[in-house]
Amino acid sequence: MNYHNSIQAFEKARQLIPGGVNSPVRAFKSVQADPIFIKKAKGARIWDIDDNEYLDFVASWGPLILGHAHDEIVEAVKEAATLGTSYGAPTLIETEMAELITAMVPSVQKVRMVNSGTEATMSALRLARGFTGRDLVVKFAGCYHGHADSFLIKAGSGAITLGLPDSPGVTKAAAQNTLTAEFNNLESVKKLFEERGHDIAAVILEPVAGNMGVVLPEPGFLKGLRELTEQYGSLLIFDEVITGFRLAPGGAQERFGIEPDLTTLGKIIGGGLPVGAYGGKAEIMNQLAPEGPVYQAGTLSGNPLAMAAGKVMLKTLKDNPKIYAGLERKATNLEAGLSANLDKKGIPGVINRIGSMMTLFFTQEKEVKSFDQAMKSDTARYASYFKKSLESGIYLAPSQFECLFVSDAHTDDDIQCIIAASEKALKSL
Ligand code: PMP
Repeated sequence: MNYHNSIQAFEKARQLIPGGVNSPVRAFKSVQADPIFIKKAKGARIWDIDDNEYLDFVASWGPLILGHAHDEIVEAVKEAATLGTSYGAPTLIETEMAELITAMVPSVQKVRMVNSGTEATMSALRLARGFTGRDLVVKFAGCYHGHADSFLIKAGSGAITLGLPDSPGVTKAAAQNTLTAEFNNLESVKKLFEERGHDIAAVILEPVAGNMGVVLPEPGFLKGLRELTEQYGSLLIFDEVITGFRLAPGGAQERFGIEPDLTTLGKIIGGGLPVGAYGGKAEIMNQLAPEGPVYQAGTLSGNPLAMAAGKVMLKTLKDNPKIYAGLERKATNLEAGLSANLDKKGIPGVINRIGSMMTLFFTQEKEVKSFDQAMKSDTARYASYFKKSLESGIYLAPSQFECLFVSDAHTDDDIQCIIAASEKALKSL
């Protein structure tokens, strides 16, 4: 493939934008490649500015469950745009969105719209602190909750990919209020609660970790956290920015049958437009201004274009449960194909999958159930695999510690196509 235009574009972008990108992982740094610049996308396909075509398994890092430029979403956004792009005043569609979200995610009785996942988690944490009158938060090493100061402590996603889990610029005071535990290790959380439980406002986690690669919760882990937080009067926050509406209409909490106090939601709601939301028990949400004293606001929150896209997205998922069956079937076939390829080529690896999200870890480990195990992965091998896949027209996340997403737009043929490309890529390792 020829990447001439992308290489030139990156050179220019680097002179004007830090690292040439507006979000770090996009720069392909950890896979030692130059990023491709995207021109357009439709369905399961994406094209770069050199006119190379790729089957896309990044899906804008998760939100595009229905694929790119979904006809109905595009129509809804166009129609909304003709009526004005922002009013900073209430609209009917915001209540419709709240109705949809509360119907699909029963633990969410009231919901507030924001503009990103970062805003959702940052605001949910402030609310948890305001509600409990406590300062501390417990997070898990390798989980990522956006880039607010409180969460850039042993953070996952681009932060681990680039070796920057604790960012300079986060004050000691902020860092001191964040305690970290080990994912899937209930004892590590119990220990923190025994020491400081009555000062802990909340435990926040991705109920299925996606930002250290996919790591599923072990049986009893989520239930244990639910019991522990209840015992100490702390709140349990599920960050479902990736898992919400993806693993089931009601997200991971529906799939695992555990009700958090607060839930953060993100990019999926906007079908690719900048959106986030947080919600939960009415008693807690009523603490937010103007009803209560905890302040949080946003000029563009509930933006009409984002709400128009979101309404189509959520209604489509709610009214078509067969979408989830299709995702499951395609993702199961993909997992089986990738696994057979590893066996055939004698390459050690572990595939973690739930529903339509999965990660192939290049590792000698027999299983990946913890952050430490995830970190033992061979990132150099992933980088080679990534580059070979890209050359075969398969666009994967440019990091070992991310997810591969299957969308409704992928066909069974697309799945066969990535399995064949993966065999070729593995052969070259
Ligand atoms: N939480 C989780 C679980 C995420 O995966 C992400 C981003 N991938 C965020 C929060 C932050 O969302 P955003 O990038 O929209 O700020």
